Amino acid sequence: MNYHKKSVTDIDVSGKKVFLRCDFNVPLNDQGEITNDIRIRSALPTIRYLLEQKAAIILCSHLGRPKGKVNPAMSLKPVAQRLKEFLNMEVPLAEDIIGPQAKAMAAALEPGQVMLLENIRFCPEEEKNDPAFAKELASMADIFVNDAFGTAHRAHASTAGVADYLPAVCGFLIKKEIGIMGRAMESPEHPFVAILGGAKVDEKLALIERLLLEHCDYVLVLGGMSYTFMKAEGGTIGDSLCNDAMLDEVRGLKEKAEACGSKLMLPLDNIVADRFANDANIMCVQSGHIPDGFMGMDIGPKTIEAYTKIIEEARTVVWNGPAGVFEMPNFANGTRAIATAVAHSKGISIVGGGDSAAAVDQLGFSRQVTHISTGGGASLEFLQGLELPGIACLQDAE
Ligand code: AMP
Repeated sequence: MNYHKKSVTDIDVSGKKVFLRCDFNVPLNDQGEITNDIRIRSALPTIRYLLEQKAAIILCSHLGRPKGKVNPAMSLKPVAQRLKEFLNMEVPLAEDIIGPQAKAMAAALEPGQVMLLENIRFCPEEEKNDPAFAKELASMADIFVNDAFGTAHRAHASTAGVADYLPAVCGFLIKKEIGIMGRAMESPEHPFVAILGGAKVDEKLALIERLLLEHCDYVLVLGGMSYTFMKAEGGTIGDSLCNDAMLDEVRGLKEKAEACGSKLMLPLDNIVADRFANDANIMCVQSGHIPDGFMGMDIGPKTIEAYTKIIEEARTVVWNGPAGVFEMPNFANGTRAIATAVAHSKGISIVGGGDSAAAVDQLGFSRQVTHISTGGGASLEFLQGLELPGIACLQDAE
């Protein structure tokens, strides 16, 4: 995949109408209030630049999974309000997306002004990448700017389809994402260490394999998916999370890695619990020796020590996925320790995925890591070397 794409600074945007796809897919609480606005803040540099250049901006995003139907609980109204506060200007919301209201608002938009389309996934044509719908979206603007890295792995109308009708470039966020991650994949400094955790081994196995065989010196596996590896090695995992369908695939990966000079590491010890609850009875046991009636919930102190040493020595670190059931305070220790080690590592550190990014943010380490990716799934696909439709559709840099 070509990581070198034109951005907003490579074309003349002044006086132009810009269709700017952002990722404002923010978490909302039961009252419909935004609980974390990092995704909105991440979009501000591109928005501010375009406004300074006297472009008129038609902002577009999805929020949640309304499945092609209008759902007031997933309205972008709170986002419009938050943008208004950040930008200190009106951000009117066009509720009908490609209807007469949106078109009239877009037509009347003056240079230096901004408007927001309602949740684009209220329209079923969005996720189908319907060409007629993409054309309607494109008809409101002169230029397409994609700055939604979080949805760049999706070929939807507003992430890729519009590029068939408009000159297409990236915003600063996507430029930064592909710049840093592209460099890490093209010419990483070694030791290159990947830390992969979380629950879903099926989603991450292809990445683990590619990193081990083509890029990394170490892949440190942790979290719920490590128990599938332990079982595949013949260990006892009690009632821990396990994806039995993947056992054959993970078996033998260690040897394959060693044959090409890299190392797949599994936790040495685990904090196990007799129930999936914060107040469960717990103990620390060696990996592969988890008794029946207990499940692995976090990595243990020996693992923390061993992994920390490797991470702190690394020149390139990629981390995706928590080390344990970190939502429960008694099982957040491992994730905290990994976040700390990543923040203290000497080289480039890239954190992807909502959970790991939140851990780094909550611990106040955001400034100590090189890059927190705004896209979990997108960053995993990017690191696997897969072509992301929302990036492939952009003009190549000369
Ligand atoms: P993923 O979406 O694959 O990145 O997984 C994230 C989820 O993995 C989080 O909600 C964690 O609670 C969960 N998780 C991490 N470690 C474990 C574990 N040992 N057992 C069960 N779930 C886990």
